[in-house]
Amino acid sequence: MSAGRFAPSPSGSLHLGNLRTALAAWLVARESGAEFLLRFEDLTTGAAPAAQAEQLEDLALLGITHDGEASCQSERTELYAHAIHQLEQLGLTYDCYCSRREVREAAAAPHGAAPEGSYPGTCSRLTQAEVRKHERAGRRPALRLHSSGGIQTDDFVLRRADGVAAYNLAVVVDDAAQGIDQVVRGDDLVETTPRQVLLQGLLGYPTPTYLHVPLVLGLDGERLSKRHGAVGLQELRALGFSPQQVLGYLANSLGATPQDSPVTAEGVLNEFSAQNIPTQPWVFDPSELRSG
Ligand code: GLU
Repeated sequence: MSAGRFAPSPSGSLHLGNLRTALAAWLVARESGAEFLLRFEDLTTGAAPAAQAEQLEDLALLGITHDGEASCQSERTELYAHAIHQLEQLGLTYDCYCSRREVREAAAAPHGAAPEGSYPGTCSRLTQAEVRKHERAGRRPALRLHSSGGIQTDDFVLRRADGVAAYNLAVVVDDAAQGIDQVVRGDDLVETTPRQVLLQGLLGYPTPTYLHVPLVLGLDGERLSKRHGAVGLQELRALGFSPQQVLGYLANSLGATPQDSPVTAEGVLNEFSAQNIPTQPWVFDPSELRSG
């Protein structure tokens, strides 16, 4: 069985950009008869029941249904530890004592053929004496992957210094454990894909298909955020818009419906084709929503 997913971080309300990505992922899944799973990526936020409840409610109001119970990354720490252990057994990891600042500075320095901004492997070359010095100073190491100098990716973090699995590792483990074979997400994550594909290969997981949906911008050209005013479903409802109106507007922006009149999610399904999703960022103009 094929499966897609929406994987929000429960760090607050979903804005129109998040909801648009959720709708795109749902349409791609449902159009192909795939399951659609909801996963809260709460490794950095911790349990966030209020935000999760609000996000669930927004998705339900828009008719973006999911199969089974929503899951949380915080329930799956053992799976992450197991995958990290596999990579350790393969001799593909090393401890990294660099602080964030040191990583920033190292990444800014010129270092041969490595991609710009990537970690140049400083701690992969530490002597025993240097390791002992860091330990004496009480530094706790993060764990990095030896990426073998591939040009597509650097030695990224697998486990943070506080012991929590890093985003790329967790996402790859989750997608494999949940049988996700189609990933539809915002194109702010496109640069993480080579890292995730590398991990899938090393861990013996299949690689899903990826579709990255362009971001949503405000009228000022900046990435959509709370600063742009009423950009969440609850806020728009308080202004008198129905969920079906908002959905119509989002569906239209995805090239799924010819005009932005009210629709239901099921209704959009007939019209939708992933090929029609515009490749340019979408600019949210509140006055268009009003005239829809
Ligand atoms: N949790 C990520 C986000 O909210 C999505 C991760 C993914 O789709 O791979 O942007």
